[in-house]
Amino acid sequence: MSTTINSSALTIGIDIGGTKVLGGVVDSTGKIIDSARRPTPLAGGKELVATIIDLVKEFQAKHEIAGIGISVAALISKDQGTIVGAPNIANLSQLNFVAEIKKVFNLPVIAENDANAAMWAEYKFGNAQGLNPVMFFIIGTGMGGGLVIDGKLFRGANGIGAEFGHMIVQPNGVQCGCGANGCIEQYASGSALMRYAKEAITANPAAGQELLDLCGVELSNLTGSALTEAAKKGNEMALAAFNKQADWLGSACASYTLLLDPQAIVVGGGVVDAGELFLTPVRSAMEKYMPFAGTHLLPKIIAAKFGNDAGLIGAADLVRG
Ligand SMILES: [Zn+2]
Repeated sequence: MSTTINSSALTIGIDIGGTKVLGGVVDSTGKIIDSARRPTPLAGGKELVATIIDLVKEFQAKHEIAGIGISVAALISKDQGTIVGAPNIANLSQLNFVAEIKKVFNLPVIAENDANAAMWAEYKFGNAQGLNPVMFFIIGTGMGGGLVIDGKLFRGANGIGAEFGHMIVQPNGVQCGCGANGCIEQYASGSALMRYAKEAITANPAAGQELLDLCGVELSNLTGSALTEAAKKGNEMALAAFNKQADWLGSACASYTLLLDPQAIVVGGGVVDAGELFLTPVRSAMEKYMPFAGTHLLPKIIAAKFGNDAGLIGAADLVRG
């Protein structure tokens, strides 16, 4: 049974990432009033549970807490408790970690997929407020998805719905972390952007060196933020890499428009640092590929409000029931 938490009460949001566990004490308006972080234990599993318990105890010593919401890069069952699959966090799948945490604190505890939690933060407190339906892409190393219809997170029959990054766009294409081949994540994620840039630099080393000099890095430590900096300075090779990524994302947005007819598509994650430099070509590509073009309105494509805190803000609100 889900319990409804009083609106004046504080809840904890915890975001479990591949390298760090972010925790925050959040009020009912989505404001983080206290925060702390820990490294994600490599062993995952029970050590990760111990890390979460430790964070919650630290917060409880300072605040009256009414619930715990956990955002995790994993497929979560519809009951918001069981992990269906967590390829990037060790030894989590075998553990009902929500039950382990409940045992210690006797508080409502829920777990939610990180992209779903971030979508919820945008819907409740961010740039997706009042939009229906509204879909969300979180584009970092990978590509997560979230969907809110009629004010509710859409989870599907088994909790794995709205995984928009795993639409297959190239059968037998690049292998994806999910085990399938040719998912849009492999063409429109931050990892794909880096692949496009590195391929272009290798194919044209002289122009490639100009790009690297512009952001003061070697090819071996080229990062997304360095590439963004080069693109903002007008480097054509960097801009071409963003345009290729944007073209793929725009084509996917065209398909999703005919599936879901969203009022808006919100884009979050590291790629948002590039701003309009990325979103403008996404809109152009969506128009270029749109089925039934000219006969219907197009969704707005907008940047997310929240950055790294989105998952914990969303999870902290979802536990309110
Ligand atoms: Zn995939």
